[in-house]
Amino acid sequence: MTAAARDPDGTADVLVIGSGIAGLSAAVSAAEALDGRGRVTVVDRAGEAEAGGNTRWTSAYFRLDDVYEPAANFADDLMAFSAGKTPRWYVDTLLDRLPETMEWIQSHGARFRPLQTYFVTSARPRLQPRGGGEGLLQVLRAAARDLGVTFRYLTTAQELVTDPAGRVTGVRVSGPEGAAVLPARTVVIASGGFEGDPDSLTEHLGGNAATLLPIAPSVHGNRGEGIRMALSAGAARAGQWDSFHAEPVDPRSKDAEAIVMVYPYGILVDRTGQRFIDEGRGTVDETYESTARAIWTRPGGTAWFITDQHINQVEGYQRGVLSPVGPVAADSIVDLAAALGLPADALADTVTAYNAATTGGAFDWRRPDGLGTQGIDPPKSNWALPLDMPPFLAYPVACAIVFTFGGLATDANAQVVRDDQSPIPGLYAAGECTGVYYHKYPGGTSVLRGMVFGRIAGRSAAGAALAVVGHA
Ligand SMILES: Cc1cc2nc3c(=O)[nH]c(=O)nc-3n(C[C@H](O)[C@H](O)[C@H](O)COP(=O)(O)OP(=O)(O)OC[C@H]3O[C@@H](n4cnc5c(N)ncnc54)[C@H](O)[C@@H]3O)c2cc1C
Repeated sequence: MTAAARDPDGTADVLVIGSGIAGLSAAVSAAEALDGRGRVTVVDRAGEAEAGGNTRWTSAYFRLDDVYEPAANFADDLMAFSAGKTPRWYVDTLLDRLPETMEWIQSHGARFRPLQTYFVTSARPRLQPRGGGEGLLQVLRAAARDLGVTFRYLTTAQELVTDPAGRVTGVRVSGPEGAAVLPARTVVIASGGFEGDPDSLTEHLGGNAATLLPIAPSVHGNRGEGIRMALSAGAARAGQWDSFHAEPVDPRSKDAEAIVMVYPYGILVDRTGQRFIDEGRGTVDETYESTARAIWTRPGGTAWFITDQHINQVEGYQRGVLSPVGPVAADSIVDLAAALGLPADALADTVTAYNAATTGGAFDWRRPDGLGTQGIDPPKSNWALPLDMPPFLAYPVACAIVFTFGGLATDANAQVVRDDQSPIPGLYAAGECTGVYYHKYPGGTSVLRGMVFGRIAGRSAAGAALAVVGHA
């Protein structure tokens, strides 16, 4: 029997909330698994031209050596960065399913290349899909259309509908035709984190959430309804609820991801003119997030990166600055302080003390070179050249939020689980809305996990829907 004949009310076998990488991976995988025996619907709060969430804006670096090869120490890094809190089964599943998932996305037309990244120095390689995140979405949207997936844009999921036994039976939405209940045998939540909800950020992050800048316009669309509706249905929480992924950006820019990631080749000062962090403590890919978070905790949530003409020794350093607004330049530190609105005496003292603590020696911008300071706190462990070659240059730097770490607990089938680990019937989740990160974000894993677990969620949900209608 066709889905139309079986369900004249339009019941979806798999209803997916969100059309970023996790949602589209789920929708396409579900439609493939159903193979014409059921209906897949995707709802997204955004209009068709804007949908795709954070995925649409990302370069989509993958923490991979090659298409089927995770970067060295992939699993160990994920476990170490989270102090052992990321579930080991999650990391193992990610790696186990990596080859078939990469095979699958390439079968739909995606292509990957080891392109140069915006990290001037990095400890781990990154692989990039052609067209970045939007490139992945384009191939998946085309596949979804070919498979007959229905898209309902400008439709916001608000609440789950469950039967008395707790089984999910649909989703309450608001859309162009007003409020409605969309009946569904299974639901996949793929609606991102709560980075777009100021109240939730204030409640969970502490600090001054209002000074966090959105890394891209998509951040505003991820307001946490998907997470909240599952919690109301009994889901357990996972991930570090009081933390988030951060990037250092130029607050003067209106562009998405206007990063300033060359701080190892100068100093960072706060609005009192003081240094507050070891700018050279490691490669940029391993330090940019903690640098951004440290800036967020300074007065006013802003710092200034100050460098001089020594930076020209760093070949192609411009790729570490995506801000379209140029640096503030001045011939003396006092003039620079005036241009930046910083206390001149304090800044001059900071630069004098820093210069006196530099030790001389060979500078190598390509790797941690051991050229550290002596006798100042905080130290600068590498790349510590003096600031004495004007004109001096400066960028303001603030902390941008990319996504939140707190989310839902799931199992190896991507099914949402309760505190006692029992799965909630009919409910699946993937991507940012699931909580796996703690402490330090292992760069290049968010799109990857959205794809791998989105695919698992779609297939699991399709299997469960077929079991309900007796096709298994
Ligand atoms: C600028 C930038 C750079 C990044 N760089 C990288 C990188 O290099 N590598 C990496 O791995 N990750 C990176 N990330 C993070 C990564 O892109 C995201 O974490 C990932 O793409 C999230 O995928 P998702 O499918 O879970 O959510 P999203 O892609 O955010 O999709 C969520 C979708 O759900 C929709 N939605 C939200 N709420 C509702 C609702 N209530 N009802 C209906 N629809 C709803 C949204 O409109 C959106 O379309 C970056 C992110 C940004 C923004």
